[in-house]
Amino acid sequence: MILYRLRCAKGHEFESWFKDSKTYERQEKKSLIGCAVCGDTKVERALMTPRLGTKGNKAKTGGPVEAPPAAPPPPPEPTAERQQMAALTRRMPKELREALLKVQTEVEKNCEHVGDRFAEEARKIHYGESDKRGIYGQTSEEEAEALAEEGIEFGRLPWIPRGN
Ligand SMILES: [Zn+2]
Repeated sequence: MILYRLRCAKGHEFESWFKDSKTYERQEKKSLIGCAVCGDTKVERALMTPRLGTKGNKAKTGGPVEAPPAAPPPPPEPTAERQQMAALTRRMPKELREALLKVQTEVEKNCEHVGDRFAEEARKIHYGESDKRGIYGQTSEEEAEALAEEGIEFGRLPWIPRGN
């Protein structure tokens, strides 16, 4: 099955499932596809928006069954990221860097450092499995999005490497 995003002649956009692209072409030629809004049969394919994979698929492959919606393991190379961050920091105005460092110091003073387990800990706190407290650490872009989707509150901060 494939999901196509379609647009009618009047500009309404809607989504529809087809067995395969040939089925779509056949139905489209015979004007069998009607716009979901106005019923117009003059439809064409609109640009497909990227869709996230279905959550929970992982369980089938033998992973932990009751795992929370698991995001794929973070693939980015930390070294490349760190280099990027260092480059970014160098271009930063001095005042901005100092302000960020100040926030950073406050966070370090008041929050528990959980390192790479940030997403895991944030979830535990959110669902009451862990004590409510301030934490900080790193997480991947994907994890951050997943957390936001689950309604977990967190803030993002560019972490400045010290000593440069
Ligand atoms: Zn329409």
